[in-house]
Amino acid sequence: MPFRSLGLDPRILQAIQEAGYTEPTPIQAAAIPQILTGQDLIGIAQTGTGKTAAFTLPILTHLASLQGQGRMRSTKALILAPTRELVAQIKDNIDAYAKHLPLRVAMIFGGVGERPQIQALRDGADIIIATPGRLIDLMGQRHGNFSNLECLVLDEADRMLDMGFLPSIKRIVKALPSRRQTLMFSATLSREIEALTHEFQQRPKTVQI
Ligand code: AMP
Repeated sequence: MPFRSLGLDPRILQAIQEAGYTEPTPIQAAAIPQILTGQDLIGIAQTGTGKTAAFTLPILTHLASLQGQGRMRSTKALILAPTRELVAQIKDNIDAYAKHLPLRVAMIFGGVGERPQIQALRDGADIIIATPGRLIDLMGQRHGNFSNLECLVLDEADRMLDMGFLPSIKRIVKALPSRRQTLMFSATLSREIEALTHEFQQRPKTVQI
C-alpha cells in the first residue's frame, strides 16, 4: 500500500519521500486512516514499528487543514511521553515530517531550566511534547493554554505508569477539554492500560501489531 492512499497532506507526503520512506509500516497502514477520522485509538506496538509516525502524520495532516482559519496560535496537540529522550525523538520525527509546514513545536522536560520552556509556551506552540512531571509543574504555575486542544497522545503509556506518572497524567487530563481525540500507545495491553482507556478514551478502536 502506498503512503499516498492513506489521506495524508501532500506537503507531508513530500517530506516522507524526502526521508526515504517507501511504504507505511503495518501499524501506520492500520492506524493512520482511523486516526484521520477523528476517533480514539489504542495502539499496541513496540518501539521500532514506526509508531511515532503512525500518530504524528495524521495529527500533522489535521493541523495543516486548520491553517488559514486564524486558529493557529494555540496548542492543538499535546503528546505525553515518559522520558526526555523519547520527547526529543518525537520532536526530531515531527521536525522531519513537518518541514514543509509552518508549525511550532515545543518540548517540555525536566532536568533543565524552566525559563526557555515557559517562553516557548508563551510564544504559542501548535504542538507540545512533554514529560508529565515537568508539564504539571509548569501548569501549576499557570503556564500553557490548552483550551483549544483537539488531540492528546499518551505514548509508551505502560512505561509512564511504571514510572509513577499516573497522578500527574490525571491532573493534566483534567485540565484539557473533554471533547478531544485521545490516542494511546503501549507495548502491552495490561489491566492498568485498560483502566486508563476507560478513564480517558471514548469507544477507542484497538490496533495491535
Ligand atoms: P519508531 O517505532 O516510531 O521509533 O520508529 C522506528 C524507526 O523507523 C524510526 O527511525 C523511523 O524514522 C523509521 N520509520 C518509521 N516509519 C517508517 C517507514 N514507513 N519506512 C521506513 N522507515 C520508517
